[in-house]
Amino acid sequence: MTEKRNVVIVGSGPAGLTAAVYTARANLEPVILEGEPSSTSDQPGGQLMLTTEVENFPGFPEGVMGPDLMTRMRSQAERFGADIRTQKASRVNLQVHPFEIWVGDPNATEPTLRADSVIVATGAQSLMLGLPNESRLLGFGVSTCATCDGFFFRDRDIAVVGGGDSAMEEAMFLTKFARTVTIIHRRDTLRASHIMAERAQANEKIRFIWNSTVTDVIGTNTVERLELQNLQTGATSTLEVTGLFVAIGHRPNTDLFKGQLDLGDDAYLLTQPGSSRTNIEGVFACGDVQDSTYRQAITAAGSGCMAAIDAERWLEAFHHSNAAHH
Ligand code: NAP
Repeated sequence: MTEKRNVVIVGSGPAGLTAAVYTARANLEPVILEGEPSSTSDQPGGQLMLTTEVENFPGFPEGVMGPDLMTRMRSQAERFGADIRTQKASRVNLQVHPFEIWVGDPNATEPTLRADSVIVATGAQSLMLGLPNESRLLGFGVSTCATCDGFFFRDRDIAVVGGGDSAMEEAMFLTKFARTVTIIHRRDTLRASHIMAERAQANEKIRFIWNSTVTDVIGTNTVERLELQNLQTGATSTLEVTGLFVAIGHRPNTDLFKGQLDLGDDAYLLTQPGSSRTNIEGVFACGDVQDSTYRQAITAAGSGCMAAIDAERWLEAFHHSNAAHH
């Protein structure tokens, strides 16, 4: 039997869980498909589950561990009756109303859930180099967010991988704290825009290692050094750094919605400016899945609140016009 709900929230990072708190408190009895622990891209709790200390989330003057923050948000949503399921949406049909959502077999004839409104909060993932020690030391010297973790590297020598605008921006931000920042790029020309490249190259604290990749991240409990390889000569070398910022791009988790919701050239979901509305009425998006600019837990949470309020107002108008119709 397909269940019918007011709101289904897909995703359980700060955006999804904030939307859950708000919609639950508005008596909309939301179902949250939080994802499954098996996969790094859509695991419950989102990217904060891959971090350690979070010092910039307001309300925690002593800081809070990323996973603790997410556990707290989850409990807060549950306290108001949010129905959080450790499941993954495998298919959605947003071309019909009520919207249809499948969990498990995407080819099943009947959807698992039908919903009058859907809030998409599936987040994004940082692209990683794919080295075993890189994931082991994530949060312990390896980071994907300079804004989040730069502060921990005061007077340290650190490295940034990547040659795009993100890498330049992260490197420049990191020079506020670090003693030196070494940008490691796999080619000898940057992908970054001219102005960003110029600024980075003019920065005294930044140096470049060209045509090279990181082949290993060495460290017992925290990063101690990197193993590098020059792709032209094959020569290997060691770089003594205590931090590695991976800035090789992000990928929004939008596969589920391709062909239904409008995506930008960069595959992020498009929302109408100043709101969480997508191109389909009754479908709202919040958090990193629609934000390639700020990517912060607090901005994700803020946009989750927007999506919940937008959904609540939309549902009210929808039920009102339905009642009038009948
Ligand atoms: P990007 O432009 O795709 O650049 C990714 C960089 O990482 C490239 O230099 C790429 O090398 C390198 N890379 C990719 N995979 C790698 C791997 N496995 N190992 C080593 N290096 C790897 O991504 P982005 O820098 O995140 O930027 C994304 C978009 O956001 C761009 O349109 C950018 O302009 C925009 N952005 C703008 C600003 C700003 O204007 N302030 C700031 C950030 C981002 P190759 O060059 O060899 O491919």
